[in-house]
Amino acid sequence: MTINKTLDRLMFAQGNLCFFCGQTLPKSEASVEHLVPSSRAGSNSDDNCVACCKTINHLLGSMSLKEKIKVVLNQKSVFKCPSSTKSTVTAKGNNVCQDASATQTDSYTIVLADLKKRGASRPRKVETLKSTMQTALKNAKTPLTDTQLESLVRRLQAEGKITVEATKVHYSL
Ligand SMILES: [Zn+2]
Repeated sequence: MTINKTLDRLMFAQGNLCFFCGQTLPKSEASVEHLVPSSRAGSNSDDNCVACCKTINHLLGSMSLKEKIKVVLNQKSVFKCPSSTKSTVTAKGNNVCQDASATQTDSYTIVLADLKKRGASRPRKVETLKSTMQTALKNAKTPLTDTQLESLVRRLQAEGKITVEATKVHYSL
């Protein structure tokens, strides 16, 4: 059984979709991912293999099945395989961090632009600010978790865009 034939079979069984992100998978982007890695004695049989984007295969590398499941769960059912255009993806740990900070930068930009646009009608309380931020992010289709919202508020404070007294928010945008 050659890898290429395994790939063909898996691709067919998966309807030419990536196992992880569910996007159409061109053969040039496809690879065989061993769920239990070969380096941990995972078998080459189809029940241990999936066809997926090369990028995610590279990212998952030789993580244990447990670690891989954690990666999948961390995506909160909006799984996107790392972009294949990011050729800088090398170490799996670095990539995860870069992606996290990229997301935060985008959210930060969106929130800041939204707050600037609001002029005098900016929320005066931290709780209202958070829900205003979340609305802007939802409109941009990038909603955050409560924890991420918290850290975004802290970043606004750290960068001097807002100051918080008790529950009141002051802006210096
Ligand atoms: Zn994919």
